[in-house]
Amino acid sequence: MTVTLSSPYTLTALGEFGLISRIASRVAPHESVITGIGDDAAVTALTPGMRLLTSTDMLLENVHFRRAWHHPHTLGRKSLAVSISDIAAMGGIPRWALLSVAIPSDLPLDFIDDFMRGFLELASEYNVTLIGGDTCSSRSGVTISVTIMGEQSPDLIVCRSGARPDDDIWVTGTLGDAALGLTLVEGFNSSQPPDRCRSLSGVEGVDFLLSRLLNPTPRVSVALALAEAGVATAMIDVSDGIRADFGHIAELSGVGGTLLIADLPLSDMFRSLTADLPVIPYYHAISGGEDYEICFTADYSDREKIADCAKKCGIAATRIGIVTKFSGVKVLNRDGTPFTARTEGFNHFT
Ligand SMILES: [Mg+2]
Repeated sequence: MTVTLSSPYTLTALGEFGLISRIASRVAPHESVITGIGDDAAVTALTPGMRLLTSTDMLLENVHFRRAWHHPHTLGRKSLAVSISDIAAMGGIPRWALLSVAIPSDLPLDFIDDFMRGFLELASEYNVTLIGGDTCSSRSGVTISVTIMGEQSPDLIVCRSGARPDDDIWVTGTLGDAALGLTLVEGFNSSQPPDRCRSLSGVEGVDFLLSRLLNPTPRVSVALALAEAGVATAMIDVSDGIRADFGHIAELSGVGGTLLIADLPLSDMFRSLTADLPVIPYYHAISGGEDYEICFTADYSDREKIADCAKKCGIAATRIGIVTKFSGVKVLNRDGTPFTARTEGFNHFT
């Protein structure tokens, strides 16, 4: 008879409480956390005078990510980055996170270790402390849920509802990179090796676009600088595409807006990788999600202050349109005609 000893390096052998201890042992203590992982609830100290900001996000395997494309280390980073981006979009300071995961029992422990390494690495970069969460087994795929908490003085919190007619519409960084990256990854057919990202890696510009898609940077410092300067009348992070996300500002502010296609900021990599196409595939920049840039509105008299905030934070801020008093979001070509994705030939990209 063969006796198989269970290895401590499998999830089944480790068990739920073993996994929680394994994660907890890697979390650095923070002065704001009075009681962290391990008790029934975490106890944290909010800075006096601050309001608590809370947001939650779910990432589902084969809906939001694919294990074949996404290395667990960058998946860990992205899981927290997208939540931190929501706190940034309110002008908030990210502070604490809760992480819940549902995982198939045969998931390699290395996957979880790499995932946690990425998650905690990003947490440390943004001074966020993991204070709790939950783990359970899944019968189908990995599910990740992150709840983020941040804080800010009530007078500095920026909501989606403050845009006023004639405000400028701005966006940080560049648009369309993540969507173009996704198109590149999806462009490989199923006969390709399973790790499509690895097979694309090394092509000039591709690594940049894939990093924008798989390992986004939340724009905390510039969003905070804009909030502290008191210049942003409304703010949102770009997760679903600039047209849709500015649309949320417009709806909640009771206004509309005009976005100018020719003014959308495109990265050098986006331009060089699409240089051979008959027209620039602006569709990715207007409707592509997951760039996690910050879209905000501001009075025209604050243009100089905004330029200073952006410069100080080392990120571009570009005016891309104007808020109108009539509802609805219009996207216009340079000649004033309405932009339609069909006219730009983005399907030619292969
Ligand atoms: Mg958001």
